[in-house]
Amino acid sequence: MPDALSDYRALITELKQIYLLNSISGLLGWDERTYMPPGGSGLRADQSSMLARMSHERFTSAKVGDWLASAQESELVRDPLSDAAVNVRETRRNYDRAKRVPGELVEEMAHTEVLSQQAWAEAKKRSDFTIFRPWLEKVLVLKRRQAVCLSGGKGSLYDALLEDYEPGETADHLRAVFADLRGPLVELVNAVESSDRKSPAHILERNFPVAKQEQLARMASEAVGFDFSRGRLDVSVHPFCGGCGPTDVRITTRYDESYFGDAFFGVLHESGHGMYVQGLPPEHCGTPRGSDLSLGIHESQSRLWENFVGRGRAFWRFFFPKAQAMFPEALGNVSPDDFYFAINDVRRSPIRTESDEFTYNLHIMIRFELEETLLTRDLAAADLPAAWGEKMRKYLGITPSDDAHGCLQDVHWSGGGIGYFPTYTLGNLYAAQFFQTARRELPGLDDSFADGDFRPLLDWLRKNIHSQGRKFTPAQLVRRVTGNDLSAEALLAHLRGKSAELYGVTAGNSE
Ligand code: ZN
Repeated sequence: MPDALSDYRALITELKQIYLLNSISGLLGWDERTYMPPGGSGLRADQSSMLARMSHERFTSAKVGDWLASAQESELVRDPLSDAAVNVRETRRNYDRAKRVPGELVEEMAHTEVLSQQAWAEAKKRSDFTIFRPWLEKVLVLKRRQAVCLSGGKGSLYDALLEDYEPGETADHLRAVFADLRGPLVELVNAVESSDRKSPAHILERNFPVAKQEQLARMASEAVGFDFSRGRLDVSVHPFCGGCGPTDVRITTRYDESYFGDAFFGVLHESGHGMYVQGLPPEHCGTPRGSDLSLGIHESQSRLWENFVGRGRAFWRFFFPKAQAMFPEALGNVSPDDFYFAINDVRRSPIRTESDEFTYNLHIMIRFELEETLLTRDLAAADLPAAWGEKMRKYLGITPSDDAHGCLQDVHWSGGGIGYFPTYTLGNLYAAQFFQTARRELPGLDDSFADGDFRPLLDWLRKNIHSQGRKFTPAQLVRRVTGNDLSAEALLAHLRGKSAELYGVTAGNSE
């Protein structure tokens, strides 16, 4: 036991050192996407790859394996939910996964993905899939090799990759949950479209001075609970949440003077990610017990604040007068009802990132189904544009005008992100379930929002989700917090409520 304990302590010390290396990478990555001059990109790539190599070498070293083995066989892990058991279990999982993929494959993937992303950017610019096709094929070959290594040749290749983003999740389970969502969602979108009521979405396309947008977004971010003494808000082309960890979270957005929605809701979204990181237990920083759980759970936090809170009526009871005072010309004569309808506009778009709460998940299902068949070779890369168009017509009733507005719109696949997309819809589903539960457990939530008090909800999220780190798997966490397994019901109930309220339609009640 004394030996196991000192081995465990040595393991934790090493994990915290590795965390320091990764936090430096995080800061460099933030700088790269915000303030770095273009000329710095070569040096930055060298700096980042050196840090990644150092981190990887330290984590996969034999001594980490020895400490793990020693702790794993000891009394320390007897209670599977103790901090030590959680740290050992999760480190073992990551260690084995990291050891299974040979270094030369990791390097080849990193190298190929850089070139592939460049080819994708060029292909998207020219709207010509044939430029990207050979690179997509190369990426798929490498991802299949990686999946074979990770799965040990057993089980689903897709699941082996999905595990990186959503531990414990499987394609079979996703297919079943997505199937429950798809039919009612398609019906609901059709019903909304056939409604006589139309959202006055043009209200958001007036002149909104950037400095004022930033002021209002900052005010909202602070009000919901993003801690600016442990975080920053800056500008980047593609908004993200990054930085060093719980005490230094960097979020970004982008402003468009002639559109209100992007920046404001983008900041709420990234604030949700940021508050999750700020709420991780500080005493476990640098260990799995103190780390964010999965991409799906991360996304549940951003979507919850962006959509369930930020596009809700109670939120705007507090913020609309402030927005009107900030933008008297654009919003002075707008009624709160019209504004509320405008920010909840439902409209079919060929572009995922421009789509609303209703149609967004249909975009994700298309990508999930296509990436799985690309990986298993049931779909040849050459046939992707046609297959994309077919699914867009079937699920969204849209024919993409060209490849740029079709299968080339997202960067993920070019960077090897196969298995990533479903986590967006998982985030929406988890968010709906969490919010439904919070409402039940915290009566008067709407009144507190209308007073500008978001503390009760944030405290609830801190206690139930943020402070848990990686103690449970995502599926276990959802069950513990909500009493239910992952399901489409809460999200459908939320969307049905909105469509009835705003569009006067009730559909999608197919069960
Ligand atoms: Zn997000």
